[in-house]
Amino acid sequence: MTSSIATLSGVGVDYARGRALGPIDLALAPGEIVALVGPSGCGKSTALRLLAGLETPTRGDVTRAAGKGETSVVFQSPTLAPWLSARDNVALPLELTGLAKKDALAAADEALRKVGLGEALSARPAQLSGGMAMRASLARALVTRPRLLLLDEPFAALDEITRRALADDVLALAAELSPAVVFVTHNVEEAVYMARRVVVMTPGPGRIAGEIAIEGPLVRPPGFRATETFRAAAETVSALLARATEAAA
Ligand code: ATP
Repeated sequence: MTSSIATLSGVGVDYARGRALGPIDLALAPGEIVALVGPSGCGKSTALRLLAGLETPTRGDVTRAAGKGETSVVFQSPTLAPWLSARDNVALPLELTGLAKKDALAAADEALRKVGLGEALSARPAQLSGGMAMRASLARALVTRPRLLLLDEPFAALDEITRRALADDVLALAAELSPAVVFVTHNVEEAVYMARRVVVMTPGPGRIAGEIAIEGPLVRPPGFRATETFRAAAETVSALLARATEAAA
């Protein structure tokens, strides 16, 4: 069996007003794409923060890709440094791993070209549209060639057309670079489109209600959203989500 990139084993998180998450178990195989869906407050972001090493569990064990640049996180609002150009922003994580500035900048330029920002290398974040800023954030996350890429509702603030274009870009980049990806979203269709495995969470405290495997090739072929495979999977996820939410209410 291939060893996991990251695991949550019997993991729980308590805050002052009680248990927020768990116990949950989740194992990520190298290169697989997993979507976490569930109603607000079910602990999706907490699970992601545990995998990112931004939070420690109250109980249970977390294993993760913890080397420099091995785990990258992209949040809903692009957290680019406003005073740096796109290429300096993207070069930064490589500089932090000790790479020479010249080599970091060359890799940043290549990463920005890959996400379609080859013409905006010198732009400051304020000069980028929301979609472009998210592309720059993706370039920054991928420039270290991480083994684990964590995406916390990355497209939530974007319009539908931009969301769809970015979903295809993420799948193409994931196919090329093969990180394991965990993707948090409220959007069932986005989860089914992006993932090989959709994990449905339920609140009070956050638990895993079940998971659905999604067939079909990743990268998705044109028209995939109109296929029976896609429609049936989206219905199954929605039904599980509805049952899980009702049971928790
Ligand atoms: P959303 O979809 O709204 O982002 P989520 O599923 O990502 O929600 P979390 O943000 O992980 O959920 O929160 C899980 C639970 O833990 C919620 O009840 C939330 O109020 C609580 N919580 C999260 N962070 C903290 C904190 N720092 N202190 C106290 N409670 C917290």
